[in-house]
Amino acid sequence: MSTAPHWVNAHQMPKPPEGFAACRVGWNPQITHLVLLDSKGSNGGRPTMCRLTRFPTRDPHTHRVLLDADLPGWSMGGGVAGPNVEQIECPACYARIGEVAP
Ligand SMILES: [Zn+2]
Repeated sequence: MSTAPHWVNAHQMPKPPEGFAACRVGWNPQITHLVLLDSKGSNGGRPTMCRLTRFPTRDPHTHRVLLDADLPGWSMGGGVAGPNVEQIECPACYARIGEVAP
C-alpha cells in the first residue's frame, strides 16, 4: 500500500467523490479519509476506506471499550480549512474509490 502523502491545495479541504463522505482527522496536516455511503446516504458507522475504525469496539453487555478506535477526533464532513492548514487526501482511501464506485 502506498503511504506517500498526496499534498493538495493547502487552502481547500479535499472533496469526497459521489457516494462517499469525508472523514477529516488531525491538524497540520489535516487528512481527508473517505467513508462509503449506502443508498440512503448513511455512513453506517463504517470504517474508512483505508480500514481505520472510527468507533471503539465495546463489549456488547458491559459497553466497556475492548479496542480503541484507530482515528480519534475525526469530523464527518466538517474539518478545518485555512491558510495555515495543510490538506492531504488519504492515499489509501482515494486509491480504493474505483473498487466500489458504481
Ligand atoms: Zn484513509
